[in-house]
Amino acid sequence: MISKQMQQEIAGSSAIRAMFLEGKEMAKQVGAENVYDFSLGNPMTPVPEQYNQAIIDAVRTENSLELHGYMDNAGYLETRQAVAENLNQRFGTEFEGSHIVMTVGAAGALNVVFKTILDPGDEVLALAPYFGEYRGYVANHQGILREVKPDTATFQPDLEDLQAKITPRTKGLIINNPVNPTGVIYSEATIQNIASILEEKQKEYGHEIYLVSDEPYRELVYDGNTVPFLTKYYDNTFVTYSFSKSLSIPGERIGYIAVSPCMADCSQAVQGLSVANRILGFVNAPSLMQKALVKSMDARTDVDYYDRNRRLIYGKLTELGFTCVKPQGAFYLFIQSPEPEEKKFVEAAKKHHILLVGGSSFSCPGYVRLAYCVSYEMIERSLPAFEKLAEEYRR
Ligand code: PLP
Repeated sequence: MISKQMQQEIAGSSAIRAMFLEGKEMAKQVGAENVYDFSLGNPMTPVPEQYNQAIIDAVRTENSLELHGYMDNAGYLETRQAVAENLNQRFGTEFEGSHIVMTVGAAGALNVVFKTILDPGDEVLALAPYFGEYRGYVANHQGILREVKPDTATFQPDLEDLQAKITPRTKGLIINNPVNPTGVIYSEATIQNIASILEEKQKEYGHEIYLVSDEPYRELVYDGNTVPFLTKYYDNTFVTYSFSKSLSIPGERIGYIAVSPCMADCSQAVQGLSVANRILGFVNAPSLMQKALVKSMDARTDVDYYDRNRRLIYGKLTELGFTCVKPQGAFYLFIQSPEPEEKKFVEAAKKHHILLVGGSSFSCPGYVRLAYCVSYEMIERSLPAFEKLAEEYRR
């Protein structure tokens, strides 16, 4: 018999699976071209050629035993140095290779950070709405996730609520910027305010409170927006990054943790992360991907593609009278449900073969998430269905 805990996990994850199966069933009945699946955050743009070529070159030129072999648990030093140099060039930071730990995507990075900083019963704050997997990642390490309310007019965090939620057991705060599911970028002013609240609370409680900056969407920004780089605002920061979205390679499972050189006990923290990488069973991040990254650190996917989708769908939804904050980054829109129970709105959308995810999955009921990392043509085909859906709420 599997554990009771896992039985609960299975029950909890069945909603998304049910949606996936429903979409497949729907496609059989009405044809795949008539199903408008906006439920998944799977990248849509081609993998940059520079990255593909770097993989081919690595296979052709590297010693195969080294290329596919074990390494230091933190990753190849040349890859860690390449990450550090890339960050320093872009953000004026002072990382060295020794501050970087290569990880199995952002999911691996977050688990490694929580394994390193949490004792059982420690609390981690997340700014709602947030990526639902955080609940599992914190629970994996006997942590307790506490939620901070958003200001729903802007979807910046409610800073008074943040202040009130910090307790002597608070060990960390996760910030995802740009945000899945709203597409909002937390502004520099927000970040500065958060940093000074945390500084004050660190002093009050006499221990570190870590900022964990989860930023797999950092490069997916529009209209010239930029995302503040958090080690510049707060010393006790771990930046967790993934190439899943910026290079469209979520299946390759590659990312990193950058530890602020100004963190208290920085080198012990890096040692902890390396040990966590090993004992969580990752051992190290994929070797071939690390080698390929050295030669393609600057490669980027086609952000304009997502921007074109964003303009089409945001323009149409607002024209139809739906309410949502204009996304500044990532590839999601967070729409206010026109009726109090978001589940009913999700069901109403399904009748028009539109698949959306309820805001409750992101701890923000009353909203739905639309992922526009889909083909432009699918968005165009879906517009009459959105018109019919809007019509239902006008009556
Ligand atoms: N964090 C956020 C906010 C995400 O949206 C995702 C994936 O969608 C992840 C982390 C996990 O990313 P990865 O595929 O690199 O593990």
